[in-house]
Amino acid sequence: MTATERPSREEVLLVALGGNALIRKGQAGLIEEQFQNLRAPLGQVARLSREYRIIVTHGNGPQVGNLLLQQECCDAVPRLPLEILVAQTQGQIGYMIESTLDNELMALGLDGQQLLVTLLSYVVVDHQDPAFLNPSKPIGPVFPEEVAKRLPYPTVWTPKGFRRVVASPRPLTIVEKKEIKKLIEAGFLVIACGGGGIPVIKESRAFHGVDAVIDKDLASAKLAEEVGVDVFVIATDVEGVAIGYGTEKEHYVGMLQIDEARRYLKAGEFPAGSMGPKVEAAVLFVERCGKRAVIASIDAIEAAVKGKAGTQFVP
Ligand code: ADP
Ligand code: MG
Repeated sequence: MTATERPSREEVLLVALGGNALIRKGQAGLIEEQFQNLRAPLGQVARLSREYRIIVTHGNGPQVGNLLLQQECCDAVPRLPLEILVAQTQGQIGYMIESTLDNELMALGLDGQQLLVTLLSYVVVDHQDPAFLNPSKPIGPVFPEEVAKRLPYPTVWTPKGFRRVVASPRPLTIVEKKEIKKLIEAGFLVIACGGGGIPVIKESRAFHGVDAVIDKDLASAKLAEEVGVDVFVIATDVEGVAIGYGTEKEHYVGMLQIDEARRYLKAGEFPAGSMGPKVEAAVLFVERCGKRAVIASIDAIEAAVKGKAGTQFVP
């Protein structure tokens, strides 16, 4: 099928929402702001649900970092490990997405026609992943350099400012992939793999949580592959992928062939922790599944699905 033909509702669309779908640049992250910010992307998801079966995944960088900071501000109760905080963000953000989506479906007169479910999701990682020795995932609030220098944990410079970093091992498999596939086949719109999933390692038959935050774009690509998605959209706060980002020569590209994208990745065109994992996720999905991936703005999800916005990744 070409991008412009009308899909049947058999096709599965995965929309990965960036953390900025909840907290936009310059906002403090008040809960009212987060609910308000979700309306535009989820209004589009509600309209798309008439044509596609849908999986929504989401980031949790700002939220999980804020929870960690809150732990450290209080000695009256025991501190919780990162794995538990990731689980908490699946609950809090899952609730916000599900209830906002419900309202948007109601506004379209689709209430009761689209069943929603938010699923706690574990993602298996390798306990020997080198990422455990080299924290790279930015979480929590942005600090000025002077403050960042004095913090008792590692920080990294990002285009948004200095942020705390934690280990981010690669996702190996989504534990609930069969459940998610069955729910999609049964007609549910599924919210899963929140914050990249609760990171676990497998020891014989048991799972153990580990102190890390998996990149949500890489986890989404793995889920898209394991469930068999037809279109994979990564929705963020820029219009797509730029070459020469932040330089005089900066220009956004409408289409990238995967070997071309790989060359840019190798040349260090896209930074770790932001555009790097998005491009890698899109490339991995297209390479393994031969289907379409798009990186686009959260305000242009529908246009991106129709092939009319964002950067389209093609085999
Ligand atoms: P999300 O919360 O959606 O995961 P990120 O902040 O992780 O968002 O990634 C999106 C950011 O990537 C953009 O806001 C932009 O500042 C940055 N970025 C870095 N390199 C590029 C590039 N080559 N093209 C576009 N954006 C880029
Ligand atoms: Mg990100």
